[in-house]
Amino acid sequence: MSLSLDATQLDRYSRHIIMDEVGPEGQKRLLDGRALIVGAGGLGAPVIQYLAAAGVGHLGIVDDDVVERSNLQRQVIHADADVGKPKVESAKAFVERLNPDVDVEAYEMRLDPDDVEDVVAGYDVVVDASDNFPTRYMLNDACRIAEVPIAHGAIYKFEGQLTTLSPDGPCYRCLFPEAPEPGTVPDCATTGVLGVLPGTVGCIQATEAVKLLLDDGDPLVGRLLFYDAMDMTFETVPYQRRPDCPVCGEDAVDTVEGIEYTGGCTVGD
Ligand SMILES: [Zn+2]
Repeated sequence: MSLSLDATQLDRYSRHIIMDEVGPEGQKRLLDGRALIVGAGGLGAPVIQYLAAAGVGHLGIVDDDVVERSNLQRQVIHADADVGKPKVESAKAFVERLNPDVDVEAYEMRLDPDDVEDVVAGYDVVVDASDNFPTRYMLNDACRIAEVPIAHGAIYKFEGQLTTLSPDGPCYRCLFPEAPEPGTVPDCATTGVLGVLPGTVGCIQATEAVKLLLDDGDPLVGRLLFYDAMDMTFETVPYQRRPDCPVCGEDAVDTVEGIEYTGGCTVGD
């Protein structure tokens, strides 16, 4: 029954293994699982923490920023002594301290249309913990082509928005065909963000990633979840695939190369 789990692993993951819904088989799936986390900031921090603690054996972490002191109010994997270091380096050191079962591949870069398909194709699940529309649309498109699911999350001041994009469900462009024009949606640095907000949203993304790796439960596919921290409300709105979607519809594109992820991030003309 123990499969290939050793005594230390049976102890570390005992609260997973004891549940029928996970068990030793599920834990082995997690240990064999590959998750790519795009962004090691506010959303990425709790995702990295919980996926590493859960024993997801292979984590890819993409980020091209360095830790700034103003990040520490919410980006809980980075510490005061990490200020000035690349976030991927700080994140990798955090995971190594937490769980020696987990390998980290650090990508100190910004994904672009020439390399994104190759990067995502090596993973079972992608967690979109990015903070910008070009990355969000590019990940949607590349993951749809590579048939990799995405646990998506986004935050704004006191509000969060989540959905899961499965290869057989609607995609992000079915929900929002075009990105808002640059400059029309302010970022955290301009508007501020409640420090604990990305913790809540990132934990839901991590939950979705674990469920996808276990192939269990009902993922947030075709459903958009809104969270309002001030009102403490969660609201779910269903959405559907668009037959004319340029990425998952009838005449879908088969590569993201050549798509310009600027402005509205539109596909084609
Ligand atoms: Zn679509």
